[in-house]
Amino acid sequence: MAYSSQQETFHGIDAHTGERLEPGFSASTIDDVAAVCNAAAAAFDAYRSTDAEARASFLDAIGEEIMALGDALIERASRESGLPVARLTGERGRTVNQLKLFAQTVRDGAWLGIRIDPALPDRQPLPRPDLRMRKVALGPVAVFGASNFPLAFSTAGGDTAAALAAGCPVVVKGHPAHPGTDMMVADAIAKAAQRTGMPDGVFGHLRGPGNEIGAALVSDPRIAAVGFTGSRAGGLALVQLANARDVPIPVFAEMSSVNPVVLMPAALARRGAALGEAFVGSLTMGAGQFCTNPGLVLAIEGPGLDSFAAAAAEKLRQHAPQPMLTSGIRKAFAAGTASLAANASVTELAAGLEGDGVAREMARLFSTSGAEFLADQALAAEVFGASSLIVRCKDAQELATILESLEGQLTATLHLDDADSDAAKPLVPILERKAGRILANGWPTGVEVAHAMVHGGPFPATSDGRSTSVGTLAIERFLRPVCYQDLPEALLPPMLRNGAPEPRLVDGKPA
Ligand code: NAP
Repeated sequence: MAYSSQQETFHGIDAHTGERLEPGFSASTIDDVAAVCNAAAAAFDAYRSTDAEARASFLDAIGEEIMALGDALIERASRESGLPVARLTGERGRTVNQLKLFAQTVRDGAWLGIRIDPALPDRQPLPRPDLRMRKVALGPVAVFGASNFPLAFSTAGGDTAAALAAGCPVVVKGHPAHPGTDMMVADAIAKAAQRTGMPDGVFGHLRGPGNEIGAALVSDPRIAAVGFTGSRAGGLALVQLANARDVPIPVFAEMSSVNPVVLMPAALARRGAALGEAFVGSLTMGAGQFCTNPGLVLAIEGPGLDSFAAAAAEKLRQHAPQPMLTSGIRKAFAAGTASLAANASVTELAAGLEGDGVAREMARLFSTSGAEFLADQALAAEVFGASSLIVRCKDAQELATILESLEGQLTATLHLDDADSDAAKPLVPILERKAGRILANGWPTGVEVAHAMVHGGPFPATSDGRSTSVGTLAIERFLRPVCYQDLPEALLPPMLRNGAPEPRLVDGKPA
């Protein structure tokens, strides 16, 4: 566990040394959960009624307050997560840009999804009523911060930005691996809310070890939706809690994915060794602690795959391990890789430099045959960290059968040359069924924050594959459509009135 608990005080743990960090923090109580949810519910109507400019300014102000925390934020996050300063500096930039992008989205107004079908009083045999639709905020949203992105997927991360942009108050359950980082960012959000005149209760923050606080939060009747990034077991537990409520609510949980990478024959033949080296760069980045880590490589056996595997093994052997996020994650990685190593149908191709037994574990690369992979479902499970399995397929048919056998994924990658195009074509429909994002000639780690990004995918990559946790499309998670039929102008929301500037479809066409 990444924290220690003494009565009501808990501490962050230095990910490099395992030492307790001072000061300690007082853990939230069940009463705090109720109070924060109550405040969020009380803020809901006032917050969702704020105009676009006010809400966008709030999002921008959060970014400014985060930047104003300066190096102290990065230093704290680095101690608590073990992630290097350069990576966290980049992650802070991404977090702030994400907030700005959502601010811009709010200003643009397309997110409202306005559709107007004007009345047709003379239509035969029946007149058509006046129909006007816009999307409205769902209600207070519970966000679970992730351990592996202390900034971009945590207190002010993508789920928070999307929910606030949609007009939903947010209650964050901070991840116990980085409580100090969370506290600093929570203060920044509170300052931004105050500075831009947002209603009290628009943002709440809960912290502390154990499942109790998170479970109470998801079960609180005032919470309308949940955003989560973490383990499959954790995500499924929250889905069950949400479904067991008197009023069930949606849970958008991003959970597990092995992110298959398919190496096509012509690409392998021409640049197998170069691909092997680049693959290890993606595999070991951030100690492999990315949901998009390439945990599975599929290719048809032959000399090209041999050069790929040899180059990857050579590079991996020189890899110096980095600290992992928490001792729990390190132990889970050690257990997952030990289980692969002990599997009689798996060969260990290479291991990185030794770990230190405290925070670092060596990276691992394994290999198996297509037939053995198909015979043992356990080989398709995620091992969170720098571990990957190369599956040597006997032919294109076996490779396609293996893709068909996989569970839902966040990403699927094809490495191909022009000569591979015909052979790759039939794989694309399979990948569309399996993954939220299909890439060519790149690596899945690194997720652009953009309008067209999808960081989602069929179960178990997520609990609801109809959405994304990265990019502006994430706002859709926290909205629902309302249709106004024949309402007099005075009762219509301003953006639905005739002549309002927000973008709209009239009779299904852009107007
Ligand atoms: P986790 O154990 O799923 O915890 C994530 C958050 O959910 C924590 O705040 C945790 O709170 C809460 N939580 C978990 N189970 C809960 C339950 N039953 N009821 C209420 N709250 C619950 O994830 P983690 O600590 O980040 O890492 C553990 C494993 O998750 C890793 O080894 C890895 O396999 C996986 N992981 C996957 C991704 C990904 O992107 N796919 C990212 C990170 C981790 P408390 O700890 O306070 O109970």
